[in-house]
Amino acid sequence: MEPEEKIIEPEQQKKKPSRRRGRKKPAAPKPEQAVAAQDTQENEQESAQPEENKPAPVKREPKPIGIPEGFQGMDISDDVMKALGRMGFEQPTEIQKKTIPLMMGGSDIIGIAPTGTGKTLAFGIPMLEYMDLKETELQELVLAPTRELAMQIGEELQKLAYYIKGLRIAVLYGGQPIRRQLEQLSKHPQIVVATPGRMLDHLERRTVSVRSVHTLVLDEADEMLNMGFVKDVCKIIDKTPPNRQFVMFSATISQDVMTISWKYQYEPVQITVEAVDENKPQIAQYVIPSERKEKQEYLTYLLDANVYERVMIFTDTKLMAHRVNTALQKSGFDSEELHGDIPQKKRSEIMRRYKQGKFPILVCTDVAARGIDVDDVEAVINFDLPNENEYYLHRIGRTGRAHKHGVAFTLMTYSESVRMDAILKYMKSEPTPLHFDEAGILRREDDTAFFENI
Ligand code: ADP
Ligand code: MG
Repeated sequence: MEPEEKIIEPEQQKKKPSRRRGRKKPAAPKPEQAVAAQDTQENEQESAQPEENKPAPVKREPKPIGIPEGFQGMDISDDVMKALGRMGFEQPTEIQKKTIPLMMGGSDIIGIAPTGTGKTLAFGIPMLEYMDLKETELQELVLAPTRELAMQIGEELQKLAYYIKGLRIAVLYGGQPIRRQLEQLSKHPQIVVATPGRMLDHLERRTVSVRSVHTLVLDEADEMLNMGFVKDVCKIIDKTPPNRQFVMFSATISQDVMTISWKYQYEPVQITVEAVDENKPQIAQYVIPSERKEKQEYLTYLLDANVYERVMIFTDTKLMAHRVNTALQKSGFDSEELHGDIPQKKRSEIMRRYKQGKFPILVCTDVAARGIDVDDVEAVINFDLPNENEYYLHRIGRTGRAHKHGVAFTLMTYSESVRMDAILKYMKSEPTPLHFDEAGILRREDDTAFFENI
């Protein structure tokens, strides 16, 4: 039987602020930073007490440079600024604007934001700012629900750390030989990005320790906890010092997310970013009624139109992903499948090649694709409706990322259309209906052909 989850004792809770004391107070607190600043002040009053923890990590000095302008005034160091410039980012997204100052101020945070709003950098930037590069113990830990997502966060942090010499980031996930990961760990990374299962595995083997972790981030918390990682996540958190900063990001607030927050966060500040127009990617959504047996044919039609260079097709099950992909390949399309039955090594390889634009069509299940950021997906096709309403949003969020335009088609049977109504209520949006006529031409409601070329 699993051991009982540890309950945080009240005195442990009280100790929490002590680490923040060591952090430098941001130079000029802005109104949004009020909470964090207050926190720091209070903590400073206690600073006569002996510090039982290690000294807080050293903040690298900010030396703002000319670019990128929108990030100025956020106390971001020269190295990170240059990296942002190199990545081509000029303005912080809304969640970044709100999160970065608070997280730099030391607050625990719950960030609720839809997919594609730039959450990775929202926590990634503050993470890189508080780091002692000479320290050999692990300082910051990010937990993510899937291997793909962990790898992607690792890559994004790596890009952001481009000018920071001596920063080591290890990415740990199931499916990769432990030996490879031991090699990474032997280099004493300051940052680990991991899936909960593999992280716990390493902790139990004592191949990594989280006793000096000062920042813990849960990304896609709702999904992670939904996938049955609650116990593992709690066990990992229990091993971190009680006064660490704990930041959670989630697309939705689920019961599990609230429970973890209540149990482990210290006066968390909640940040919510709505999918409001400015933020919301421009995604044209279309629904196409179809019988189950017509779906493959309709899918082929959409692909034959040759309008979209990069397409993601979603199915509900691994089996269906395999079937759809096999049929596409038989018809001569350059497609690949991504789901839980594909061995990890191959999955990473497929993902990498898809991102590099080596092939145009990816057929995948929700879990395999969760959180994956592929630039320039032009069209998402829902071969089946997702089982969970939220997944619809996650799926179509693959397209139209970072203010680009995208298109999403949903092929639906009559019974799926009933479920679609529930999804739309949740989405608060209205897709445009299209239909195939008797000659097999896709038309709009006013009977004009949808594609000009076929
Ligand atoms: P989320 O985790 O909220 O789904 P990501 O962090 O994966 O979103 O970011 C989505 C995309 O937006 C990525 O391609 C990322 O590189 C890009 N991005 C992030 N921040 C910015 C920014 N400030 N300006 C432009 N693009 C950004
Ligand atoms: Mg993300």
